[in-house]
Amino acid sequence: MSNLSYVNNNNGAWQTYLTQIERVAPYLSEDLQDYIDTLKRPKRALIVDVPIVMDDGSIQHFEGYRVQHNLSRGPGKGGIRYHPDVELGEVMALSAWMTIKTAVVNLPFGGAKGGIRVDPRKLSVRELERLTRRFTSEISHIIGPQQDIPAPDVGTNPRIMGWMMDTFSTGQGHTVTGVVTGKPVHLGGSLGRVRATGRGVFVTGVQAAQRIKLPVEGSRVAVQGFGNVGSEAAFLFNKAQAKVVCVQDHTGTIFNPEGLDIKSLQAYVAETQGIVGFEGAQAISNDAFWDVEMDILVPAALEGQITVERAKTLTAKLILEGANGPTYPEADDELQKRGITVVPDVICNAGGVTVSYFEWVQDMASYFWSESEINERLDKLMIQAIDDVWQTSETNQCSLRTAAYILACERILKARKERGIFPG
Ligand code: GLU
Repeated sequence: MSNLSYVNNNNGAWQTYLTQIERVAPYLSEDLQDYIDTLKRPKRALIVDVPIVMDDGSIQHFEGYRVQHNLSRGPGKGGIRYHPDVELGEVMALSAWMTIKTAVVNLPFGGAKGGIRVDPRKLSVRELERLTRRFTSEISHIIGPQQDIPAPDVGTNPRIMGWMMDTFSTGQGHTVTGVVTGKPVHLGGSLGRVRATGRGVFVTGVQAAQRIKLPVEGSRVAVQGFGNVGSEAAFLFNKAQAKVVCVQDHTGTIFNPEGLDIKSLQAYVAETQGIVGFEGAQAISNDAFWDVEMDILVPAALEGQITVERAKTLTAKLILEGANGPTYPEADDELQKRGITVVPDVICNAGGVTVSYFEWVQDMASYFWSESEINERLDKLMIQAIDDVWQTSETNQCSLRTAAYILACERILKARKERGIFPG
């Protein structure tokens, strides 16, 4: 249970995160033990009212958040989520996972996250723009290229980042490209950013598969979520001769034991906004997704998907966490017991924030790199990070998640300790 008075999120994402911190604590060096509590609370949490005039002239109020979990190693970094289930405890957990993620990959950032409790599919484009601009204006005093840099997440995209950049810049009186990442390329965005998260899932997945001697070619892959992350991961696995046998999204679940043609599925989804109805696959129930025979599972949707019950029967040998927080701690134990390898979110999906870092660096320098340079640097960084995590897990005889947390928490808490506690 959280000991913070303002979050009541039993068994939710924040609780999952706290359990992960409890699990890493015994592995951290003695001199850092006094500082662990710093990770169990956000540094700053802002809740804002976002009123907008709807197209029909009525006024609607939405709840918005920006949480800066930790800024010890640099400016806050993390996405903005538009989803009907967004609430404070969830945004806190997502911001904390960003703190861990940026530290695992050793980016000079802290962790932050924001969101609005809204179903963006129910808004017109103009309403979405008004919502984004008002929200940006409400959080503008705590964001900035040296303070906290938002980016896309579930339900947001480059166009929304463009509106955020424009709104913030209007307030400053000059263009500030480095205030958000994941922008359109002609607005200071980076080549390769849109596909970076899915690419990172694939790159870390191939590394993990090699280590557990699972051939990618011919392996059966199931993907939950067919948005920015899931569709790119599926595409790359398909290209590497794996068989993507099952895909689930917000419209349902489709299955083909011979493997789906992902390029055609992407084209179908671009037109219809969902996977259901795609020819060349049969529709199955959402529950049946978890029973499909598979070698690799890519949860790339929302948190809290792999429960202990599902962990007991899953046939996958390798789980690649494209989503943030998809696995409950008890499920983690069960998977470990069954010898199933989990590449945790904080490394597996770090490709997005890594190219966000490259975008921020390019904006600061006003000098832009080619897509091949971006991809090369991304692959190198991800391979180095998974290598470090793997070695740490062998040295400490612990899961890859705990190993990633060991590396990250040592970095964060060393910075915390060396900075000292103000006023001293
Ligand atoms: N929303 C993404 C994540 O969860 C990207 C964050 C970023 O690029 O700052 O990692």
